[in-house]
Amino acid sequence: MPHPAVPATAARASAQMGETLDLLADYLAIPAISCEAEHHADVRLLAARIRDDLEKLGLSACEVLELDGALPIVVAEWMKAGADKPTVLIYGHLDLQPVEIEHWNSDPHVPTRRGDRLYARGSADDMGGWVSHMGAIRAWLEETGELPCNVRLVIEGEEEIGSPNLERFMDAYPKAFEADVMVLTDCENPSVDVPGLTVSLRGLLEVELTCEALGADVHSGLWGGMVPDVSIALIRLIARLTDEDGRMAVGRVDVPQTWRKAAWDVPLDEATIRDGAHIVEGVDPLPARDIPPAEWLWRQPSITVVATTLPTAANKKNALRRTASATLSIRLAPDQSAEAMFAVVKEALTASPPAGVKVSVAQAGWAGEGWLYEPSGPAFDAVDRAYEATWGTRPVQVGVGGSIPFVALFGKRFGDLPLILNGVMDPRTTAHGPNESLHVGIFAKAVAANVHLLAELGALGKTGVKG
Ligand SMILES: [Zn+2]
Repeated sequence: MPHPAVPATAARASAQMGETLDLLADYLAIPAISCEAEHHADVRLLAARIRDDLEKLGLSACEVLELDGALPIVVAEWMKAGADKPTVLIYGHLDLQPVEIEHWNSDPHVPTRRGDRLYARGSADDMGGWVSHMGAIRAWLEETGELPCNVRLVIEGEEEIGSPNLERFMDAYPKAFEADVMVLTDCENPSVDVPGLTVSLRGLLEVELTCEALGADVHSGLWGGMVPDVSIALIRLIARLTDEDGRMAVGRVDVPQTWRKAAWDVPLDEATIRDGAHIVEGVDPLPARDIPPAEWLWRQPSITVVATTLPTAANKKNALRRTASATLSIRLAPDQSAEAMFAVVKEALTASPPAGVKVSVAQAGWAGEGWLYEPSGPAFDAVDRAYEATWGTRPVQVGVGGSIPFVALFGKRFGDLPLILNGVMDPRTTAHGPNESLHVGIFAKAVAANVHLLAELGALGKTGVKG
């Protein structure tokens, strides 16, 4: 039985939408950029402001948690629903990506409404994500004086720099993370009409490839045609890893046929890809070749050359170079180990080197494994019902082509709990890029879905929520 107060609470949340958007705009006016030391005071200012607002909302244990060498985390809770009700942990982050102000059409820290969208750095990544929960919590507390389940909030201040201290916070403040189900709100929806439930991340492996042939740079007029050119050898080696489209040719994985079939329905059409990736006129997205775009983006490995020591225009000279190297960034399939991929890549790069050059292959930087999650059980049925009631459709399962360290960490520490990854981003959000924006309609649906979700999860009870 759904909670009898859901309709009135949803109506209240809807009536308060203007105020919820004002609250969001207030937060967005604070440039809480975690990667820039001169903005660390803003991160702290915003954290304190959020803490105060959560207390005013009626939550308890509202605190700004600190650790040496870390930016803070804001926590709060409401634990009066009773021991038989589940505790829902809501995660979001308050810090922002930096801005390249010259590419913005309006000030990134002055939230500006144009049409259905609110433009500001952090509007959708991730302030709108967790403020949508504040809107729902406020409506519940004002409408009924209580929440339908116990709730904990964790708002991180370092997500945009890779959550380097989140695990230390989990160790230092374990109580703040105690929950039966988690809603991690920092992900994307496939369109403004179709909500997304994120179930996979790709991992990351960085490989350093070096070719060596000569003890010194030598004149190309004297030796060209007779000694190996390491630059050309390097390019040929990189080409070995790719197919004619430039996609990763080695280390591909098999995905379940049922998944592949469903992936054709993900609304990742050509227009969305063109628009999202800023493809110029006259160039097309890579051909699908019987594999859905969603699979190419989320479930297959991909490769990008992120650095090389190839000759540049600035150091141009008529010489064969001694060495050449490249850093290759390889996105791993969600269930692919970095070790296995490294072995495959090393094998391909070191077998019969072009022109007989010396080839060395090493792991560079850090490697992060992906994450693949099977969302099933009563908590996810509850999610389906909450979205059906508010978006008019269940969420589709989506992946993330990149790596999100906090998700991998929650997966590692709390992988036995239902982990609900949702958010308010959509393909036009341009998170991390210029003119980041939030679709106001998505935000309103997120608030409403959260009103329903708290009731649905509460109705399952503490033991029922895990299935
Ligand atoms: Zn984010």
